[in-house]
Amino acid sequence: MTLTTALIERITHVQAQIARAAARSGRSPDEITLVAVSKTVNRSVVDEAYAAGLRHFGENRVQDAARKFEQPLPSDVELSMIGQLQSNKAGTAVRLFHRVESVDRLSLIDALDRHATNAGIVLPVLLQVNIAGEVQKAGCAPDKALGVATEITNRSSLRLDGLMMIAPLFEDPENTRPFFKSMYSLRERLRYQLPGVSLDTLSMGMTNDFEVAVEEGTNRVRIGRAIFG
Ligand SMILES: *Cc1c(COP(=O)(O)O)cnc(C)c1O
Repeated sequence: MTLTTALIERITHVQAQIARAAARSGRSPDEITLVAVSKTVNRSVVDEAYAAGLRHFGENRVQDAARKFEQPLPSDVELSMIGQLQSNKAGTAVRLFHRVESVDRLSLIDALDRHATNAGIVLPVLLQVNIAGEVQKAGCAPDKALGVATEITNRSSLRLDGLMMIAPLFEDPENTRPFFKSMYSLRERLRYQLPGVSLDTLSMGMTNDFEVAVEEGTNRVRIGRAIFG
């Protein structure tokens, strides 16, 4: 079996799982954006995934992504930064990515806003929340989310589109459900506290747990291994 055939089968399988989970929560699969996390594969595989119909890709390292996408992507691709981002790489990130999902602190907000202003763009961002309070994980604490979100909304070259989280890893994905529920209600609370800010995007769900995340209302899943092996 050629790589492309295997890749198409995995993509089709993931899309079917998303559609079934969406149906269980009474939603249309069209509401859910599949971001293919291409951090472990090289450019030729990304191009195959593009040929297979995928348009959203996520990367977690600025340097790797800059190398991988030296050859520009087709203009209908949307590339997202999903990993921890150092403020000194914010300039490269603004040039390379269409959106940054991993915004979690003031220094990074300032750096991204400055570079976006210089580039004459408004950068869509998500606020990453460490919903489970795991010490080793990035993301702002849930009780700081309103403050950090407010800082983002005060920057003229950033647009806050929603929230992002990484669930703790469990053998049984069912155990992630309470964290997705907390994130959903945090988003609802922030919407109430920040009238006029859409916060439409909820980026949660990865290979291990995306079906649970979809059942709990995510509209953006970031999937690496289930697509790229
Ligand atoms: C790697 C990564 C993913 C994808 O993880 P898989 O388990 O391979 O699906 C999603 N989000 C972030 C932030 C990642 O770093």
